[in-house]
Amino acid sequence: MIPTPQYTGMDCHAISEAFLALHEQDGFARLPPSSLLHDSVPMSFVMSAGLIQVENDLDKIVAETGGKFAFTQPCFRHFDMKQVGSDPTRLSLFHMSAAFHIGSTERETVLPRLWYFLTQTLGLDKDRLWVTYLDDAEFGCDEASYQCWNALGVAEERLVGLGQEHCFWRQRSTGQIASDGKKCGPHTEVFYERDVACPACENREQPIGNCRCGRFVEISNSLFIENYIDDDRKLIPAGTVFAECVLGLERLAMILQNVSCVYHTRRFEQWRKKLAKYVVAPSCSTDTAVSIILDHLSAFVALTANGAPAPGQGGRKYLMRKLARESMKHMEALKMDVHQVLQDILVDAPIPLCYLSEEYSKINKKVSCKETKKRKTGHT
Ligand SMILES: [Zn+2]
Repeated sequence: MIPTPQYTGMDCHAISEAFLALHEQDGFARLPPSSLLHDSVPMSFVMSAGLIQVENDLDKIVAETGGKFAFTQPCFRHFDMKQVGSDPTRLSLFHMSAAFHIGSTERETVLPRLWYFLTQTLGLDKDRLWVTYLDDAEFGCDEASYQCWNALGVAEERLVGLGQEHCFWRQRSTGQIASDGKKCGPHTEVFYERDVACPACENREQPIGNCRCGRFVEISNSLFIENYIDDDRKLIPAGTVFAECVLGLERLAMILQNVSCVYHTRRFEQWRKKLAKYVVAPSCSTDTAVSIILDHLSAFVALTANGAPAPGQGGRKYLMRKLARESMKHMEALKMDVHQVLQDILVDAPIPLCYLSEEYSKINKKVSCKETKKRKTGHT
């Protein structure tokens, strides 16, 4: 095993700034992030640093930026909530930096800059990096990416060809510009290998990145949109091609800070210290429970700051309720004084505090009603 490298300890903000600055140097315009409450996802929240946020204004943005722009976007994935705590690299709310180049899918305009950023700017150990590319029976081999990575010095044995289920992206529904059709194209991912003992990964029993042990961490993905795909899976050359390169900031921070999981990065440090004081009933699952509380509460605060509604029924309200209730359920399991915790850790976030306190009162009322009923009917 290669000795554990000493990294810079950069946090998400510093990584984002470095990425955006490098792109600005190369003529990319820096754009602000979108609100998490974007019209394109009316029942949910923005889920990735994708084209969807800029699609409606694309002509204007291209006219203003020349088609090269970069930004850092907070993203919320409610469907990942269940894996929070058990998967060391998954958060419900996380941050992605993205760079778009509209009008070009030349690998040479994307991958060399990304490689420089990862290995020089961040100083990641090259011997721990793995790269995947499309090698598929139906959609062919992404030779262009393979050649470009190889020319950058990525050895053949570290270039892993995978099928369409891993390395081919297609839009699920038509874009907001309906006549556009469904965009698609190959993508190529960069993984970082950590010192996690896992026989399945050690023996390459499954494709890289499939295992949830956290040994192989996907840190970047570059997508090249060259075609549309019709209902018969036929590829139609796209009028406007583009390349997108994204980074997972919390995952990179985890690696650079040399911590075991994203929940132990500095992003959560202050709250984690505060929460620790309130744990009355510690157990072997305390760390997982605290991680879930940290994730859900920070997502709740960020979404509220973006204008999310109070917890309730349906759509966004339901997702807010789920975050609130799940986090408080774990606080109760640790026998924390929930009101006290909320007051203490949310001292700088005044709006959600009342939302959360109200939600907690509702849960308690439900519990006491159930207990009363049980008592009346004689059930225990
Ligand atoms: Zn594994």
